[in-house]
Amino acid sequence: MSPDPSTHRGSVVVVGSANVDLVVDVPRHPGGGETILGGDLRRSTGGKGANQAVAAARAGGADTTFVGALGRDESGELLLASLDGAGVRTDLVGRTAAPTGTALITVSPDGENAIVVAPGANSHVRIGPEQAERIGAADVVLAQLEIPLDVVLAAGAARRPGAVLALNAAPSRDLPDAMWAALDLLIVNEHEARDLAGEAAGPATPTDPVDAAEHLAAALLAKVPAVVVTLGGAGCLVAQRGSAPVRVPAPRVDAVDTTGAGDTFCGVLAAALAGGSTLVDAARTASFAGALAVTRPGAQDAVPTADEVTTFAH
Ligand code: ATP
Repeated sequence: MSPDPSTHRGSVVVVGSANVDLVVDVPRHPGGGETILGGDLRRSTGGKGANQAVAAARAGGADTTFVGALGRDESGELLLASLDGAGVRTDLVGRTAAPTGTALITVSPDGENAIVVAPGANSHVRIGPEQAERIGAADVVLAQLEIPLDVVLAAGAARRPGAVLALNAAPSRDLPDAMWAALDLLIVNEHEARDLAGEAAGPATPTDPVDAAEHLAAALLAKVPAVVVTLGGAGCLVAQRGSAPVRVPAPRVDAVDTTGAGDTFCGVLAAALAGGSTLVDAARTASFAGALAVTRPGAQDAVPTADEVTTFAH
């Protein structure tokens, strides 16, 4: 019998990156060889893996483990405190001689970001015996592409039969056949869907974003059994082999900062699936969480609690 989603607290392992974001507002982005003065430095916790783990635990209510790597530095302590504060298990996070991953971000007055990421410790994430054991007990394993691909493959290989391997294919890159063969669920935005569908999408992708998502998802279903395409304020599209695609609208909100909406969505989707929800119901819950996240500034700081998501959804 499948678990009752209203009471079952499933387990999620998120395998991925953790970064400290260093953000400065600038009047314009500097050119090569140029120095300009910006505003005050802001420091916040980020990285797709850590953000999604925080979302799975705090907003999704899942028993969540983060498998990643941090330097033995102050940034590493900051990230650990954020993960711990959200209730994420951090006992299997590696500590490395390499510094904690850092994103250097300048933001111009029109809101455009220019970002340089120094991956640091994120290049040293490792699936050892303890990590493999925890992954082997999880209901859902969720990964992204800010860590080496062979780590994602090793995590997928460690999952138990029947567990879901979900990949948020961001940032976008080509995936080898072994990755496609291992995946149960792909979560992408429209740009990533377009990149991954490539020539399989054919020349006639519709211009309407929701129609385009449906077209691209249909092409991707040749490679993976289920696809969720997120569409910002337009919600998301859920496509599964053998079923008609389902459009899930997003609730209307006043967007303040869209940073981390995608990560909140992925973490909550994984948590809901782990709890026994269907993919469509999980996407509905994740849409409410993603919408709440855009009403607040920041990434991990913007992740709502499970109670806030439940209240908003009713
Ligand atoms: P990012 O990389 O900026 O975090 P993304 O491109 O990966 O985001 P989006 O499609 O922007 O992901 O957002 C993920 C989900 O969050 C959407 O499917 C939607 O449910 C919710 N969401 C995002 N933006 C809005 C918005 N403006 N209003 C309501 N919901 C939103």
